[in-house]
Amino acid sequence: MDYLPIFLNVKARPCLVVGGGDVAHRKASVLAAAGATVTVVAPELADSFASFSGIKYVAVRFQPEHLDGMMLVIAATNDSAVNRQVSLQAHTRNIPVNVVDSPDLCSFIMPSIVDRSPLIVAFSSGGASPVLTRMLRAKLEALIPQGYSRLALFAARFRDVIKARIANPEQRRMFWENILDGVVAEKVLAGDEASAQGMLLGLLENDKPGQPGEVYLVGAGPGDPDLLTFRALRLMQKADVVVYDNLVSRQILDMVRRDATRIYAGKKRDDHAMPQEEINELLVRLAKQGKRVLRLKGGDPFIFGRGGEEIEMLAEHGILFQVVPGITAASGVSAYAGIPLTHRDHAQSCIFVTGHLKDGSVNLDWDALARPKQTIVVYMGLHGLATLCTELIAHGLPENTPAAIVQQGTTQNQRVMTGTLATLPGIAQTEKLQAPTLIIIGGVVTLREKLAWFNPSAATKNSG
Ligand code: SAH
Repeated sequence: MDYLPIFLNVKARPCLVVGGGDVAHRKASVLAAAGATVTVVAPELADSFASFSGIKYVAVRFQPEHLDGMMLVIAATNDSAVNRQVSLQAHTRNIPVNVVDSPDLCSFIMPSIVDRSPLIVAFSSGGASPVLTRMLRAKLEALIPQGYSRLALFAARFRDVIKARIANPEQRRMFWENILDGVVAEKVLAGDEASAQGMLLGLLENDKPGQPGEVYLVGAGPGDPDLLTFRALRLMQKADVVVYDNLVSRQILDMVRRDATRIYAGKKRDDHAMPQEEINELLVRLAKQGKRVLRLKGGDPFIFGRGGEEIEMLAEHGILFQVVPGITAASGVSAYAGIPLTHRDHAQSCIFVTGHLKDGSVNLDWDALARPKQTIVVYMGLHGLATLCTELIAHGLPENTPAAIVQQGTTQNQRVMTGTLATLPGIAQTEKLQAPTLIIIGGVVTLREKLAWFNPSAATKNSG
């Protein structure tokens, strides 16, 4: 280790910033955020200081006596001689000094921080690679939910109570682990501290504090794992059991916690591995065993996903659940196909319909669909594609209305075929397209010619 990482308490302590530019302003701001009493020494101040209140400003060049009584000093001038002088003087007086961008002149360096106060993550490459630390910071920002701030404050509120109630340190640690990794934490992260508090106190009263189970109904997006939400990923890493549909891509499934039990619930057309009622009951049963159950669905769980039905049953049984939205096929697939769903020249509205009904027929409100300047997105429409196009033409849409069909959109296997209402069914047949496919109908489809940007290598030979 080249440096000793420590967290300094600078509350109401005098700290000096030498320099009046934007960098000095940034450093002064960090010090002020940590509660320091900041003095800035510089012949003049940059505009960025204008809104900065509460600092002491000394409008002269740096003099060694400015260091008197200082707890630490940061030099951020663009004059290397001054910077060197500050460093030398501070070293002589044993005052910790940081000189921006000059590691040799520093006795301490400023880490990169991810701020979830009171929780702070600080890290540094010791000057080896600032770009690497910036990249790591982006990762950590994504990884650590914003709500951890609240969670840490929540934990602080109950520290003493729990310490008084559970004397044994080992038992106390286990209790905290349960709290911070379980439903109580999830409630806090979801912003419901009242319920979290009730649960925590309930668990504290209970002699054998077992965890109640919980179901996470999570949308996994249309296929590309990069389209997962932070929350989806976090819950995927936390689940004990995952119940997933065939729409969930293998790559995404691989990101679920390694030792979680995987249960396939099917959902291909006419090949339901598990009837819906059975899935509903399974979720209830697993949650009642105290498991953290991840119900992972393609796209968004509330869009043609029967997610509503699944949690209705959970609600009836008083089982805790949360719903995590996902990028629905319409939005993900159209983006990757280069087809904006609305556009001032082509469509002011967009309608999502399912082309697959319970009894296998296609029975839609054709008049509502066959409107000008409206994009129609059809989920599960491959099977009924011919009927769909015929009916739309019969109800007034021109035969040459542009239409596209996208197979396995957003993935490396994406294939996009474009045509018109008259030609699309034939194209789908000749090209032997297979589910999942999304159909997009309307003038916006013509924009693909200009806007197609995603061309996975596997699909180049097929793309039409
Ligand atoms: N809840 C999902 C939809 C489930 S219905 C969502 O919000 O996206 C299943 C249908 O979604 C498929 O038949 C297909 O029409 C569409 N679909 C889902 N993922 C798709 C993909 N990657 N490419 C094309 N269509 C997709």
